[in-house]
Amino acid sequence: MSAKILDGKSMASGIKAQLRQKIGSKGIKPGLAVILVGEDQASKVYVGGKEKDALEVGFHSEIFRLPAETGESEITGLIRELNSRAEINGILVQLPLPENLNEELITNSIDPVKDVDGFTYNSAGRLFTGSRGLVACTPRGCIEMIKAAGMEIKGKNAVVIGRSNIVGKPMAILLLAENATVTICHSKTVNLAEITARADILVAAIGRAKFVGADMVKQGSIVIDVGMNRDSAGKLCGDVDFEAVKEKAGYITPVPGGVGLMTRAMLMSNTYEAYMIQNPEK
Ligand code: NAP
Repeated sequence: MSAKILDGKSMASGIKAQLRQKIGSKGIKPGLAVILVGEDQASKVYVGGKEKDALEVGFHSEIFRLPAETGESEITGLIRELNSRAEINGILVQLPLPENLNEELITNSIDPVKDVDGFTYNSAGRLFTGSRGLVACTPRGCIEMIKAAGMEIKGKNAVVIGRSNIVGKPMAILLLAENATVTICHSKTVNLAEITARADILVAAIGRAKFVGADMVKQGSIVIDVGMNRDSAGKLCGDVDFEAVKEKAGYITPVPGGVGLMTRAMLMSNTYEAYMIQNPEK
C-alpha cells in the first residue's frame, strides 16, 4: 500500500489562516524584518517568499536589500536599530552571507526575543535546556508534520540523518523533548541503512538527491524529507527516493510541497510568538 502524503501546502495554509485569524481577533500587527545581503539568486527567491507570506498573514513586513560589499559594522548597526524598534518583533538575516562577512557575529547580534530563525546561541541554548525560546523553523515544521501523521512520538525510535546546527541537531533535540529515543547519524556513521531501517520516524537532512532508498526504511514508518536538491535532470528533489520509499513508508513528505512550505509557515508562527513574548499582556 502506498504511503499517506503529508501535504505541506495545505498544512502551511492552515497555519497561516489561523495566524491571520488570531492577529485579527487580537487587533495586533506583528512585524518581521528580513535582511538580505548580496545577489544570491536562491536567497532572493526565499526572501520574496517570506515577504509574501508576511503580507498574506497580515504582518508588518520590512525587507532590507543591501549590496554585497556592505560591511559587518553596518549590518550589526542595522540589527541594533531593529532590536530597539517596537514595531519590529522578528529579525532574520538571510543566509548564506557573502564570504567576507562573519555569519556568527552577525546572527548573534539579533536580540534573542526577536530571533525568529532560532539561530542565536541564546535560542540554541534554550532549546538544549528546554527553556522557552524561539525554535528553528525547519525542525519545528518537521515536528508539526510528524504530529499531523497522528502517531504518538513518545517511546518511538527516531533517527535523524544529518547533524547541522540549523536542521539535524535541533531536530534531534525536539524529538528528544517529545520523548522519542533518538539516534543521530552523519557521514561517519557505520551501517547507516541498518540503523535507519529500525526507525519509526526517519528525518533526512543530508543534502544528497534521493539518497534514502526503500531498503533504508522501516515498513509503515514516518519519513520526513528535509533535503532540497536537484536531480540529474535539474528537477527539484529531496534526500529521499520518493517513488520507491512511498511504497514502504506509512507517511511521507514530498519535495517540493513538504518541509519547505512548513518552514515558511513556522517563520510566521515564530514572528507571532516573538510578538507575544514581547507583549505578554496581549
Ligand atoms: P549540511 O550542513 O550540509 O549537513 C548535512 C549533514 O548530512 C551533515 O551532518 C553530514 O554529515 C550529513 N551527511 C552527508 N553525507 C552523508 C552520508 N553519506 N551519510 C550520512 N550522513 C551524511 O546541510 P543542512 O543545512 O543540514 O541541510 C540538509 C539539506 O536540507 C539540504 O539539502 C538543504 O538544502 C536542506 N534544507 C532544507 C530546508 C527546508 O526548508 N526544506 C531548510 C534547511 C535545509 P557530517 O556532519 O559528518 O558532514
